[in-house]
Amino acid sequence: MEKVGNIKDPSVLVIGCFHGDEPQGEFLIKEYLKINPNTGLVFIPRLNSESTRVNKNGVDLNRNFPTANWKESGRDNYYGGSAPASEEETKFVIKTVEKYNPRIILTLHAPYKIVNYDGESELVKEVAAKISEIIKYPVQKDIGYPTPGSFGTWAGVERNIATITLELDDEVDVELLKEPVFKIFEMLEKY
Ligand SMILES: [Zn+2]
Repeated sequence: MEKVGNIKDPSVLVIGCFHGDEPQGEFLIKEYLKINPNTGLVFIPRLNSESTRVNKNGVDLNRNFPTANWKESGRDNYYGGSAPASEEETKFVIKTVEKYNPRIILTLHAPYKIVNYDGESELVKEVAAKISEIIKYPVQKDIGYPTPGSFGTWAGVERNIATITLELDDEVDVELLKEPVFKIFEMLEKY
């Protein structure tokens, strides 16, 4: 876990590697920071330090948020933890969101090639559409299966922060994702 960026009055938070086996996010954030050290975005390049989907306690961080629909689940790859926000990574994200109060949050995942969003605001629809236009993945409101305790529900649905889950392609060379993803970051710098 780490946090970088030139932070004065940031309005956008970007989080990579909610799932440790989706390394694209961390790579792209770190490459972007090399050429944009004065970014106005707040980044958490790698939330999950493990190389697996789950964290060191076997918890899927994207099911560990204290939402109304959090529930105890089986200890599989989607295990939501022993209690809501039981994990230090989850607590760190909550603290970061409370500290910076971002208007927009982008999380980087793989491999579904979609732009998913949570919440109903005009802002989230506008940003999702812009991201879709840049990276040529379709916008999808619902990912198609229930996600109790997800970050999108916590931030997007329950707090009305424009929350976007960008599911990157994991079949292309990650170098090829730099161009569209950097364009997305540059677009977000204007918010
Ligand atoms: Zn993921």
